[in-house]
Amino acid sequence: MSVRKPTSDVGVVTFDGPGARPTMRSVPLPHVPERGALIRIDACGVCGTDLHILKGHWPGELPWPFTLGHELAGVVETIGPGLTSDYMGRPLRQGDRVIMPPLMACGECYYCVHYPSRANRCLRPTYYGRKIGFDEPPHLWGGWAEMVYIDLERLPATKIFRVPDDMSAMVGSLVEPYSSVTRAFNRAMSLGNESFKAGDSVVIQGSGPIGVMALVAARQRGAGRIVVVGAPENPRLALCREMGADATVSIDQFSTPDERVRAVREVIGGFGADLALDCSGSPAAGPEGVEMLRDGGTYVEMGQFTDAGSIDTSWHRMCVKEVQILGSWAFTPDEVDQAITNLYSVQNDYDWTRVQSTFPLSERGVADAIAAASAMECVKATIVPGL
Ligand SMILES: [Zn+2]
Ligand SMILES: [Zn+2]
Repeated sequence: MSVRKPTSDVGVVTFDGPGARPTMRSVPLPHVPERGALIRIDACGVCGTDLHILKGHWPGELPWPFTLGHELAGVVETIGPGLTSDYMGRPLRQGDRVIMPPLMACGECYYCVHYPSRANRCLRPTYYGRKIGFDEPPHLWGGWAEMVYIDLERLPATKIFRVPDDMSAMVGSLVEPYSSVTRAFNRAMSLGNESFKAGDSVVIQGSGPIGVMALVAARQRGAGRIVVVGAPENPRLALCREMGADATVSIDQFSTPDERVRAVREVIGGFGADLALDCSGSPAAGPEGVEMLRDGGTYVEMGQFTDAGSIDTSWHRMCVKEVQILGSWAFTPDEVDQAITNLYSVQNDYDWTRVQSTFPLSERGVADAIAAASAMECVKATIVPGL
């Protein structure tokens, strides 16, 4: 693998606040610390969360101006002598392919210590692409940039995951969304006798990147009938059928919840689906998805990552249908590794170029990527610095 020559300046995109246009900046190539590295970014996805942040939907404080982008895959450009392995203990050297997830649990707080399976709810996580402002030197704290800076002395919870040498950067940049759906399925498989199992029918609400990743994960786990509810037909629903959904239900065609519930139940047959996953971001999905389930089915809510508001819900329906309702938030560090292994094993089963649309790292490129993702013109917009 060839390592490109370091340049003297590094390009990085920042935003001044919600609604702001991207600004391309240039910062000096940082010195790499003893237990640190510089990762040259080859691909970084545009996440629904990024879009919500830019619309001002993020519920907490944000360190404007900062660099967005947390679905990053790249190559170790420079590595300090004291950093010799990745988070999983695999040897790490210059030229290795890596990914870095956004939510990196501290390993020391109440949740990390008492409930490691809830380390996703870490009280003091390290985040790239959201939590560290651009003003903080050396300014490379997010994925929409040529490089990202790592210093384990300063941010000890930083977790780099080495990925197989033949895992493409484009597929590598899907590890983060795949980690989220990995957790959603782990939640659905944590219910003893009621757990999701091979052959079970699945409804996926939402045909965006998370919906598509959930489809891949459902097939990988041997799901029976799979129905995706979403829009638009092109490119999203058509692609879902190409990628193995048994049927799709268009919210453009079936405009009321009742119609959609009936359409889904017709395809699934019997008394309704065993499992439904909300990957839509629309609060209305919840009560509607519950009606798509058979009695005793399981609903996993992983689509309301930012607070898009509340919706009238009859808790009577949860009671009489005896459904399991599970929240699923991001992922724990071990689920990132599980996602790498699983995504790697299906990387040749799909034409990912149909899933990912590429945009260059420039003010125009990033603005176009955000516009395309917001307008649902593509499934996953991906920033590619080398483009
Ligand atoms: Zn994401
Ligand atoms: Zn913690």
